[in-house]
Amino acid sequence: TEVVLEAEGLTKHFPVRRGVRDLLSREHKVVHAVDDIKLTLRRGRVTALVGESGSGKSTVARLMAQLYGRTAGEIRLHGESITVRGGRKFRAYARRVQMIFQDPFASLNPTHTVRYHLTRALKIHGRAGDLEQNLRNLLDQVQLTPPERYLDKFPHELSGGQRQRVSIARALGADPEALLADEPVSMLDVSIRLGVLNLLRDLKERLNLAILYITHDIASARYFADETLVMYAGRLVEGGDSETVTQNPAHPYTQLLIDSAPDPDRLGELSRPEDQAGGEPPSLIAPPTGCRFHPRCVHAMPKCSTDLPPRFELPVQGHWAACWLYEEGAAK
Ligand code: SF4
Ligand code: MG
Repeated sequence: TEVVLEAEGLTKHFPVRRGVRDLLSREHKVVHAVDDIKLTLRRGRVTALVGESGSGKSTVARLMAQLYGRTAGEIRLHGESITVRGGRKFRAYARRVQMIFQDPFASLNPTHTVRYHLTRALKIHGRAGDLEQNLRNLLDQVQLTPPERYLDKFPHELSGGQRQRVSIARALGADPEALLADEPVSMLDVSIRLGVLNLLRDLKERLNLAILYITHDIASARYFADETLVMYAGRLVEGGDSETVTQNPAHPYTQLLIDSAPDPDRLGELSRPEDQAGGEPPSLIAPPTGCRFHPRCVHAMPKCSTDLPPRFELPVQGHWAACWLYEEGAAK
């Protein structure tokens, strides 16, 4: 299927806020937030990016949404490189690639109604046209019906799930090709998470959207995403179709995530951010050398602490893992 959005070599290091002692030393400390990310979003497909909190997955979404200034690496929309903010190409990008945030309450202005938020989105993107009809269509698309019940409500008059639906409607107001959804259900009540994921899946199919679904919850990736990428300490460590990655995980970190995930048959209880895999994620100021997972890995070999493992292709088409266990000739 058609590639909509690609990232390659995406890297972002943030300077560490420095104290007096650091200012006196010459050392320049950075947080290796994300390193060398390569990912592809396709039309009508959901790609999950799974990792623990602090793994850098939100940074990837924000980089893809061009919310940061200078970034190393390349982002391409339909093959065309988008490297600078500003200008016509960038405005087209900002319309076609929309972000959905974790906290719908924070992303909606509490002093404005649903009508205001959606009207503004339609106008910014030059789609006001028959405004009343377009507003109704947007609310219909996110299953807030009848629309007149919601249009003049303020965010605090809506439930968390309804607010997230309004955020999604606002994103759809731009007529996007891709949605970047950063933990879109993790702040919602357990009982309504599936409803919002099902809505996103329905929109993916009806509007042929490419969706990046960022989550700490690998069980939900299995349920919702076509493809799954696993991130650890700022790097991608495994990728492939969701079925393969979740049923037959290759990377020891993915195996750990799955072992510590809640029973996938209890999807109504998608896990919470605090349900983390055993052991602590490493500091990204001085990430471990070699394979960043080596201090936690039960299979670690001597070279794991010195050499960064490349992506090794696995027998299932499209499945790969960045782990020395899969080097040709490696003793398994
Ligand atoms: Fe474990 Fe080595 Fe594979 Fe890293 S490269 S996951 S340390 S076996
Ligand atoms: Mg986050």
